[in-house]
Amino acid sequence: QPRELLPPPERFAPRRVPTLPSLTDPVALHALRASLSQWQGHLWRAGEADGQPRIRRSPADGRELGDVYLADTDAVHRAYTRAWEAFEDWSRRPVSERADTVRRFAGLLEQHQAELLYLLMLEGGKTFTDAFADWREAHDFCGYYAQQAEALQGAPRVLDHVSGEANQLTWHARGVFLCISPWNFPLAIFCGQVLAALVSGNTVLAKPASDTPFIAWRAVQLLHEAGVPEAALHFIGGEASRISDALLNAPALAGVAVTGSTATAKHIERALAAREGPLLPLIAETGGLNVLIADSSALPEQLVRDVLTSTCTSAGQRCSALRVLLVEDTLLDRLLPKLQGAMASLKVGHPALLASDVGPVINAGARDQLEQARAGLRRHARWSAVTPQVDPALGEQGFYVAPEAALVDWEHLPEEEIFGPLLYIAAWRHDERDKVIDYIERTGYGLTLGIHSRIQAHIDGWVKRARVGNLYINRNQIGAVPGCQPFGGERLSGTGFKAGGPHYLMRFCTERVVTDNR
Ligand code: GLU
Repeated sequence: QPRELLPPPERFAPRRVPTLPSLTDPVALHALRASLSQWQGHLWRAGEADGQPRIRRSPADGRELGDVYLADTDAVHRAYTRAWEAFEDWSRRPVSERADTVRRFAGLLEQHQAELLYLLMLEGGKTFTDAFADWREAHDFCGYYAQQAEALQGAPRVLDHVSGEANQLTWHARGVFLCISPWNFPLAIFCGQVLAALVSGNTVLAKPASDTPFIAWRAVQLLHEAGVPEAALHFIGGEASRISDALLNAPALAGVAVTGSTATAKHIERALAAREGPLLPLIAETGGLNVLIADSSALPEQLVRDVLTSTCTSAGQRCSALRVLLVEDTLLDRLLPKLQGAMASLKVGHPALLASDVGPVINAGARDQLEQARAGLRRHARWSAVTPQVDPALGEQGFYVAPEAALVDWEHLPEEEIFGPLLYIAAWRHDERDKVIDYIERTGYGLTLGIHSRIQAHIDGWVKRARVGNLYINRNQIGAVPGCQPFGGERLSGTGFKAGGPHYLMRFCTERVVTDNR
C-alpha cells in the first residue's frame, strides 16, 4: 500500500492541553504559591450531613482537613432510588447536551485548579508535579470522553444488509452505574469513571476511596454545577466493606466500574454473579507486577532516569509502577553505581515543598506493610541502594517510605504486587531472553512492561510474547495519556476496555440493532 506523505488532517487538530506552570519562572511560582496558600487551614466537609462524621487528616503531616459524613445503608438506598428515577430524563437528552455538560465541567476544573491541586497534595499526598498530572488527566478525560460519546451515540451506524432491509446499530445507556475509585488518582480516576458513565447517559453512584473523600466530593459538586442533575450523580462516602452489600444488591444496578486491587474486583465479580436479575458488566482495572527488561544495549543514564520515574513517582503508588527490573548481566556494572547515585540524591519530603521528589504514602497501614516488605527485600539483597530517610520530625506526623532497590536471585522476586517505591532487580544471561517473559507469565498479572534496548530483534521478540496491556519502549512506563495511551491490563490486571481509549464508553452502553423491512 503506498503511504501518504502526510497523515490525515485530524491528526493535527490542535488540542488545548493545560500546561504545567513554569516552576523556574519566579512570577508564575509566586502566583501559584499565592493561589495554593489560600486553601491552607480550610476545613472541608464531604457527604450528606445526616450520616456519621469522621475527621480526615493529611497523610503528609497529620493536619486536619475536615469531616466526612459516612453513608449508611438507608442513604445508599435513597441515592440509588433517586438515581434510577433520574435515568430516563438524563439518558434521553441528546448526547451533545451531555457532552457539553462535561466540557463545562472541564472549565470548572480550570477555575478551581488551586483548590484541587491543594487537595491532591495534602489529601492525596502527591508532590506538586504529580498532583498536576492527576488534575490534567481528569481534564483530558473530559474532552476525550465528550468527543467519544458524540461519535458513539451521535448517529446510528448503518450496517450491511443481505436483502433489501436496512440495519442500524445504536449504543444506549444501561441505567445506574456504581463507580468505585481508588485513592491513588483521587481526581483523575474518579472523574474518568464517572464521566464515562454520565456522558453515555447513565446515572451514577460514586463511591470514592475512604482515604480521599474531599477531592471526590468537590468533583461531584462541580459536576452538579456544570449541569449534571443532582439526582443523576450521588457521592457515597464510607468504607466499601460496610456498604458494599447495599451497593451491589441495589435491584436495578446496571453495571460496576472499579479500579482497585484484584481481590476487590474478584469480590465484586462474585457478588454480581450471586445477584438475582440481569447479567451486569464489570469494568475492572486492578493491580500489576510490572517489569522493565533491559539488555546490554540499553543506555544506562536513560535507563536510570526511567527506572526512577517508573518506581518512585507517586511514591510508587501507581498500578502502572515498575516493581521488577530484569537486566542483562553484562549491563549491571555500568548500571548499579549510577542507580545508587541517583537514588541517594532523591528527596523524600513534604509534598508542598517543591524540592520533594517523593511524598508520603497514603496511610499508616500502607507504610507499615511497605516497611515489612522492605525487610523481606533486604533479607535477600546481594546489592542495594536506598534513598535517605525523611526528616524524623516529619516522619512522626506523616507516612513516609524511602525508596529502595535491591539485586536479588530470581527465586526471591515477588509474587504479589507491592504498592510502593521498592524495586527488585534480577539479572539474566544473554541466552535467557525468554526467562523474563516466563516470569511475567508466572505472576499472572498483565499491566505495564518497559523495554530498554537498541536491538530490534530483542524488542520485537519481547513485544510479541508479553501478554500485558501497556508496553513502553525506551521510556518510563507510567503516565498514560487519555487518547494517546489507552490504559489497562489483562489477566489479573483487569477486564478492559482501556480507560482513555476508543472502546471504553462501549462498556457503559448496550448495543441495539434495528432491522427495518418497511
Ligand atoms: N494511568 C496511570 C498511569 O499510567 C496509572 C493508573 C493507576 O495507578 O491506577 O500511570
